[in-house]
Amino acid sequence: MIDQSYAHARQRDERDELRSFRAEFYVKDDMIYLDGNSLGLLSKRAETSTLSVLESWKHHGIDGWTEGEHPWFYLSEQLGTQTAPLIGARPEEVVVTGSTTVNLHQLVATFYQPKGNKTKILADELAFPTDLYALQSQLRLQGYDPEEHLVLAQSRDGQTLNEEDLISEMTEDIALIVLPSVLYRSGQILDIKRLTAEARAREIPIGFDLCHSIGVFPHHLHDWGVDFAFWCNYKYLNAGPGGAGGLYVNQDHFGRTPGLSGWFGSRKDKQFDMEAEMTPAEDAGAYQLGTPHILSAAPLIGSLELFAEAGMERLRKKSLELTRYLMDLIDIKLKGMGFTIANPREDQWRGGHVYVEHVEAARICQALKAEGVIPDFRAPQGIRLAPVPLYNTFTDIWQAVDRLQRIMETETYKKYENKRGVVA
Ligand SMILES: *Cc1c(COP(=O)(O)O)cnc(C)c1O
Repeated sequence: MIDQSYAHARQRDERDELRSFRAEFYVKDDMIYLDGNSLGLLSKRAETSTLSVLESWKHHGIDGWTEGEHPWFYLSEQLGTQTAPLIGARPEEVVVTGSTTVNLHQLVATFYQPKGNKTKILADELAFPTDLYALQSQLRLQGYDPEEHLVLAQSRDGQTLNEEDLISEMTEDIALIVLPSVLYRSGQILDIKRLTAEARAREIPIGFDLCHSIGVFPHHLHDWGVDFAFWCNYKYLNAGPGGAGGLYVNQDHFGRTPGLSGWFGSRKDKQFDMEAEMTPAEDAGAYQLGTPHILSAAPLIGSLELFAEAGMERLRKKSLELTRYLMDLIDIKLKGMGFTIANPREDQWRGGHVYVEHVEAARICQALKAEGVIPDFRAPQGIRLAPVPLYNTFTDIWQAVDRLQRIMETETYKKYENKRGVVA
């Protein structure tokens, strides 16, 4: 049985070797922010790097492309280099560009090469909708009916995927596999290494959506032989709303022609030759399209410094401790109140958030917000709670569960309508 006292939470905060990072963020005293898996908070470093980029624009005008603290012409590649350690990639295998959805389109346009009766794409029924929409439209562009050619591995329990099931779907007619590293609702981790080995043994290219794992745990994409990956930077990486996304392409594929081309995919020394024939970059840079969204990439410069300083191993350790503590307190203090923890409980299979279900989830989330606790509601009855190791504390967790307990005991959630907002 764990120590349920507030004093215990305080002690754990005092012992926390990452505690100094909280001061790097704009965290409001009267708010317990547990939504870092939807939109991470602003750090002072991200603010500084963004202001620095604005400063370059102010002072250098067009010359900001090659001058100033972070010359814009090289920023996407520089950020790729800075991101690489988080995912276990070579620096040249990563570039910051586009968004999750755009990068997925690009990578499917490149790696989906139907031939003979190998025409299908394998994904899963629990995938984030935008991923499915992108896959469906890519199939249609190639003249295939998504009804028949998009194979969705089914979940046995509606929350998680069974890896045996995924592997058994890797049949001869599959031309491409796209899966999440962590499921966005249940927080289940898929075994990237194992699934990649199985896909490779069948010569099926495989790519992963890392939106819920980048910045959560260390990856070894290069060593695991993952063909490609893509992600957004505004969740655990705290790069701001709509911040530029990222992609990884294994160096085995360097030299391949990207499915979608644009001039910023050119070799950097050739781009301004303005030739009608494109000379693509020899690395992941080739997958860029047009002029990079510099202002949307700028916060990531500062944000990634914090990850380098904190270290992914230490961040993962604290994240697991926070989510374990949260589950333990929910089990004890909210017992018999109708909550079900629906994420995998084992450290090995649990991502960065805790996922609980309750029939009154919509109103409970509104009541939590009114109490200064920011959760993430997922219709119809899901509540995601993401304690972020860079800025959340053990006392945050204690207080969040304490307030939740009070909301349930006093039934204050009944003041609200059981309905979701436009963004939820
Ligand atoms: C957040 C998220 C997205 C969002 O894609 P955008 O193109 O950034 O809007 C896609 N996939 C997953 C799994 C996500 O969690």
